[in-house]
Amino acid sequence: MNTNDHNFSEPDERVALRESVAKLAGKYGREYVERQAASGGKMTEMWLEMGRTGFLGVNIPEEYGGGGGGMSDLAAVLEECASAGAPLLMMVVSPAICGSIINRCGTAAQKQTWLPAIADGTHLMAFGITESDAGSNSHQITTTARRDGDEWVLNGQKTFISGVDEAHSVLIVARIEDEKTGKLKPALFVVPTDSPGFSTAPIEMGWMAPEKQFTLFIDDVRLPKSALIGERDGDLWQLFAGLNPERIMGAALSCGIARYALDRAVEYAKERKVWGDKPIGTHQGVAHPLAKVKIELEQARLLWQKAAALYDAGDDFGAGEYANMAKYAGGEISCNATDVAVHTHGGNGLTAEYGLANMLVAARLGRIAPVSREMILNFVAMHSLGLPKSY
Ligand SMILES: Cc1cc2nc3c(=O)[nH]c(=O)nc-3n(C[C@H](O)[C@H](O)[C@H](O)COP(=O)(O)OP(=O)(O)OC[C@H]3O[C@@H](n4cnc5c(N)ncnc54)[C@H](O)[C@@H]3O)c2cc1C
Repeated sequence: MNTNDHNFSEPDERVALRESVAKLAGKYGREYVERQAASGGKMTEMWLEMGRTGFLGVNIPEEYGGGGGGMSDLAAVLEECASAGAPLLMMVVSPAICGSIINRCGTAAQKQTWLPAIADGTHLMAFGITESDAGSNSHQITTTARRDGDEWVLNGQKTFISGVDEAHSVLIVARIEDEKTGKLKPALFVVPTDSPGFSTAPIEMGWMAPEKQFTLFIDDVRLPKSALIGERDGDLWQLFAGLNPERIMGAALSCGIARYALDRAVEYAKERKVWGDKPIGTHQGVAHPLAKVKIELEQARLLWQKAAALYDAGDDFGAGEYANMAKYAGGEISCNATDVAVHTHGGNGLTAEYGLANMLVAARLGRIAPVSREMILNFVAMHSLGLPKSY
């Protein structure tokens, strides 16, 4: 038994991992992100350094070039990046969602083809499930794949897909016909971004970030048999293999943003003086909201750590409940912490110099994606509390 098991602390190796990541991410920091966002640049330099040092692929098995750790490690890495002001949004997608699905459901050849390059960051895989007419109701997606001889032919549209301009491929959720029942069921395909018939249109967002969002048009995209992840009769669990990691990583990312915002606010509250010699943090009207954020932040961090521990222990069902609750708590605390940080800075909170106003928008993402606050409340009401299904 790990000596830290008694006191809810992380194992020593993860503490050391966090320290190393914080050092690397701190080298880039908020200024790097803002510079890249303003100039249309990407996070590539930091991404590839994270890949070379083994941090990006910490959850991928060692035999495929990864660190052999779990989702607890990967989420800790992302939380540290975000807390240093340099969140890597695409970590939620490439190593967490796509890496987990391929690792758990892919054939040996598929693992060998994609996992080492996902682990070292040289292959960035985006993830596409959302469609404009389906929204939160992903059972309604209409992108379909049909067999034509030895190939699959995909048709459909996706929206709000992150990072497709930097991605080498997109893991697309489509529907195929079940060979036994004839019913349509979800299946996952790796679609190279240079495939004929695959095109994209950027979505203008009100949020300044290096990562962009896209609508995808998939018109008669022909793929080899090997593009279908796992087996044709693999079923829904293949999709779920990626959704718990997505929620855990979303929660960790939100907690990192909250940590960054809280640190900036506390620094400012200790320095800013407008009533004689005493800093504004002396006043409980300033201090209490910061203390409340600290408490709610630690609650959210415990939730994602529990969700990740359940996932790493192979308890997908338990992880599902806690990953949803963690994602909810993370979304709430990233919004509350950035709001309090802006307010603590007074007028400076809305200046470009302090960079917090744009974070208000970034923090909102945690309430909306990958699954909205309301859909989590629906899930918890039904699964945790046994209330009737509402949707
Ligand atoms: C920046 C960004 C990046 C994204 N990246 C990706 C990506 O890489 N890949 C991908 O596949 N998707 C991505 N998404 C999409 C994201 O997952 C969806 O936006 C999200 O699932 C919500 O769907 P929607 O926007 O269609 O909202 P809608 O489903 O239209 O919902 C609108 C509102 O209605 C509420 N609502 C809907 N149904 C119910 C109900 N039954 N009960 C109560 N309230 C309800 C919702 O909570 C929400 O507040 C991204 C989104 C954003 C904003």
